[in-house]
Amino acid sequence: MKFLFFGTSAGRPTKQRNVSGLAMEFENDNKWYLFDCGEATQHQILKSRLSSAKLDTIFITHLHGDHVYGLFGLITSRMLDKITKPLIIYGPKGLKELISSVVDISYKHLGYELTINETYAGAEINFDKFKIKVLPLMHSVECFAYYIKENDKSNKINQEKLINEGLKPCALYGEIKKGKDVEFEGKKYRAKDYLLEPVLGQKIIIAGDNAEPEILCPYLENLDLLIHESTYTQAVFDNMQTQYMHTTAENLAKTAQKYNVKNLIATHISPRYQTNEPILNELKKYYNVNAFVANDFNEFELKEGKLKLIDD
Ligand SMILES: [Zn+2]
Ligand SMILES: [Zn+2]
Repeated sequence: MKFLFFGTSAGRPTKQRNVSGLAMEFENDNKWYLFDCGEATQHQILKSRLSSAKLDTIFITHLHGDHVYGLFGLITSRMLDKITKPLIIYGPKGLKELISSVVDISYKHLGYELTINETYAGAEINFDKFKIKVLPLMHSVECFAYYIKENDKSNKINQEKLINEGLKPCALYGEIKKGKDVEFEGKKYRAKDYLLEPVLGQKIIIAGDNAEPEILCPYLENLDLLIHESTYTQAVFDNMQTQYMHTTAENLAKTAQKYNVKNLIATHISPRYQTNEPILNELKKYYNVNAFVANDFNEFELKEGKLKLIDD
């Protein structure tokens, strides 16, 4: 799986960072998924290797502007580009009203099918390669994390063993993959003797804005990847007059460490930080596994539970 960051700033863009937007892509797939769509996300997509024509579904964490104001432009450019692939958007209550108020006034006919699904904490949604569970977060408005469980790969068979025992690749392999016993030239082949152990799908959380990462605890244990906001360092947060509902690097790192999270990417960085160092150093102080602070256009690959930055 790959993750490409279109925006990593909190609240408003900076010269280095756009506001929230993150692409998720599976291996050998011809589509991709977008999490949040802050203003100018469509500009960022144009500058990346991904194409809007292959965007399949958008997941919105919450309705703050830095996470949704890019939807209007993206939705209408799709019409002008004559993209006919249907688009589905999931998000909290109010999303329908937000989008339709703009789309209905500006444009009557999009020329493609747009489905807006207002979802809720606890909802489970199935896709061809993964399942999503919507989890609640703590923020000033209703806000979600999306827990993604990649499908287990369970239909691999031991081809070498089958060939050695007299069954060359043929249509019967498909039956064995389905768990059915087969017979060939008088010899019986029991499916359970040839089916390999399933490869378990990876587990990822992509979280929206959140005051307390511990709220995700039922899903954090041995999680393959946590992508979570880390707006402030602890010292800055402690000295703020208004304590916004966001997470510090220290709190995020301690939580990830406590639950053995295998890989951590911090994003949604306050514009006050000119470099990644303050957040990254604090993360590494309390979490000793594999931590990154995302920059715009960083691309990560997660494979067999290992995360690496593949494009800087
Ligand atoms: Zn935000
Ligand atoms: Zn917010």
